[in-house]
Amino acid sequence: MQQHQQATTTSSVGTSAAGGRSPIEQGLHADPGRYRVLTGDRPTGRLHLGHYFGTLQNRVRLQYLGVESFILVADYQVLTDRDVAENLDAAVQGLVLDYLAVGIDPARATIFTHSAVTALNQLLLPFLSLVSVAELGRNPTVKDEIAHSRQSSVSGLMFTYPVHQAADILFCKATVVPVGQDQLPHLELTRTIARRFNARYSPRADIFPEPAALLSAAPLLLGTDGGKMSKSRGNAIALADDADETARLIRGARTDSIRRISYDPAARPEVSSLVLLAALCLDRDPHAVAEDIGDGGSGALKTVVTEAVNEFLAPIRARRMDYAQDPGIIRSVLRKGNEHANAVAEATLEEVRKAMKTSY
Ligand code: ATP
Ligand code: MG
Repeated sequence: MQQHQQATTTSSVGTSAAGGRSPIEQGLHADPGRYRVLTGDRPTGRLHLGHYFGTLQNRVRLQYLGVESFILVADYQVLTDRDVAENLDAAVQGLVLDYLAVGIDPARATIFTHSAVTALNQLLLPFLSLVSVAELGRNPTVKDEIAHSRQSSVSGLMFTYPVHQAADILFCKATVVPVGQDQLPHLELTRTIARRFNARYSPRADIFPEPAALLSAAPLLLGTDGGKMSKSRGNAIALADDADETARLIRGARTDSIRRISYDPAARPEVSSLVLLAALCLDRDPHAVAEDIGDGGSGALKTVVTEAVNEFLAPIRARRMDYAQDPGIIRSVLRKGNEHANAVAEATLEEVRKAMKTSY
């Protein structure tokens, strides 16, 4: 395994938002080789604009900055809130197509499925011993996902979701995790687990780094109903939707009755999220976008957003269709990614075994 120096971070959350670089961003630019990225998605449906502006854009940027990147297809985690993993294979294929379409390059990044990486999953056992049931019960993201879950009772896997995620992040000793805001409590638990593991089993030389979250300028993009845009909540604009479907979804988006358009996320969350979406697609300041629309009201706002989104997504959609013509590409991307992830995970597990004195 390639020797990887651990990056020290001064803060647990960085941001790539405009208006001054965070210490993490500065470090990434100064010395990308010191960092390692892990992030991923559950194959529960097609990726949407929340993913794009919340995390995918950062992943592609960091990949081209030269940061070693692992992109996880979290297939086991589909089982947390779905009774059966219906059409899992198709969902995994769609997710990898979305990755390729947005510019994640399998020659530079390791795209893998965690179900195929045995040693990663084995980390779950020692990690589970390091957290209390009360700590897991307090996790606000798990509570929220339980509230939206389609199951009548909470499975053990759902409850331990953040610990499994710690295994996902720590198996490759990731130092930077580009995520949306909902993931911050999970990442905090990963940091706690890394700290406790090091303190208990390897106090003189840390085995695991404490990874930092990297938030974008849109860490919580709202969906058409005003709630967090989510694959599973029927409020998303998918990257792969066509232009007409996109126009229909934006037409139906919730707004408010104030005619003058402004960018004020606290007071006007729905309108501001639409303004932000247009601004992100146009690479402009959201206040300036709102100013231009002025007294045009929701109708004019929606026209601007629809045009901006469709123009922005056109090349991504075209690339997705091209990749979909190649039937073998998904399997070969995952075969290569899984092979590399397995090698990395086995090396980490070997270190863990030695530290725990269970290396026989
Ligand atoms: P599900 O409804 O199945 O939970 P999801 O849409 O929430 O799906 P995830 O796979 O849970 O998507 O999340 C993948 C990544 O995308 C995470 O880093 C998450 O923080 C980020 N993300 C998801 N939704 C948004 C959003 N609306 N805004 C910003 N980031 C988001
Ligand atoms: Mg989610």
